[in-house]
Amino acid sequence: MNFELKQHFQIESARFLPHLPKDHPCSRMHGHSFKIVLTLVGPLDQKIGWVIDYHEISKIMKPLLEQLDHRVLNEVSGLENPTSELLAKWIYDHALKNLPALKCVSIMETPATECRYPV
Ligand SMILES: [Zn+2]
Repeated sequence: MNFELKQHFQIESARFLPHLPKDHPCSRMHGHSFKIVLTLVGPLDQKIGWVIDYHEISKIMKPLLEQLDHRVLNEVSGLENPTSELLAKWIYDHALKNLPALKCVSIMETPATECRYPV
């Protein structure tokens, strides 16, 4: 009997997308309030009655988010081309080591967009 948990985070970060044509607005340095949603799936801890403590997820995410928040994403190792797709993959790959129940990471760079990895 599995349950799905979601936890939301937000970072403010700058970026530019270096492989776009010069006249594309995203080729210029700009900022986003990125919303990050983690989805975890797993069975209940039978005694406590939850899958995992949300505080534990926050604790695991803190050092990762500190590398991204109020930073230029292009300067982060592995994020030289920080599209939302590659940001979702970067967070997933780093968080999975300590969060084996992690199923996917969603990135909303605007309220109208969402990118999820993996699918
Ligand atoms: Zn952008």
